[in-house]
Amino acid sequence: MPERYQIAIDGPAASGKSTTARLVAGELGIQYLDTGAMYRALTLDVLRRGGSPQDEAGVLACLAQLELDWRADTVWLAGQDVGEAIRDNRVSVSMGPVCAMPAVRAWMVDLQRRLGSRESTVLDGRDIGTVVFPAARFKFFLVADLAERARRRQLELAGRGLAVSLEELMSELERRDASDAARSTGPLRQAPDAERLDTTLLSLEEQTGRILERVRRELGRS
Ligand code: C5P
Repeated sequence: MPERYQIAIDGPAASGKSTTARLVAGELGIQYLDTGAMYRALTLDVLRRGGSPQDEAGVLACLAQLELDWRADTVWLAGQDVGEAIRDNRVSVSMGPVCAMPAVRAWMVDLQRRLGSRESTVLDGRDIGTVVFPAARFKFFLVADLAERARRRQLELAGRGLAVSLEELMSELERRDASDAARSTGPLRQAPDAERLDTTLLSLEEQTGRILERVRRELGRS
């Protein structure tokens, strides 16, 4: 049986992590795990129960009953596929405090380690190479200029029928990056042994190709 390995893909919001991670996993025929989707699902659960993402006791009460799962490339809440619902802007703008709660992070990291170690997995997030799998065999840190990230997010939203201005998206991304980098538990940080990939001028095919090339070379495949 071939050795199991993890590929950590971290970086700021809209740097192309999830699309790239999904494609890399598909090419290699291994599992993909979107860790941001898990934090989003908890935030969605809090909002659906009428709670406030700022209220730590309320969030922890939700967490205690959370039926969260990752199957078939998507996230499930109490047996329901919430892959679409978690992308709601209401979730994106209110999840900062939830993601900063140490008890929430410990719970998520534990689940992510269990899911990600049962088979070879590509994980994308903010703290995969530093906290979740610090010994991951492959680590990448994706970055891109703010304006380019906003442009990509705008295109993605347009594809879902939503029109949002570049200015608004740039300020939302900046705010999210600042809150991701500032939290004391699991902040957004490049692992010292991660390969930094600036995707500003790269196409999706190119950035996926760079990662695949290195992984295949080191795995001795072609
Ligand atoms: O990757 P995505 O933008 O869906 O992540 C949503 C939010 O989840 C991020 O802004 C970040 O605050 C949080 N997150 C996190 N740790 C991770 C993945 C995501 O705190 N490993």
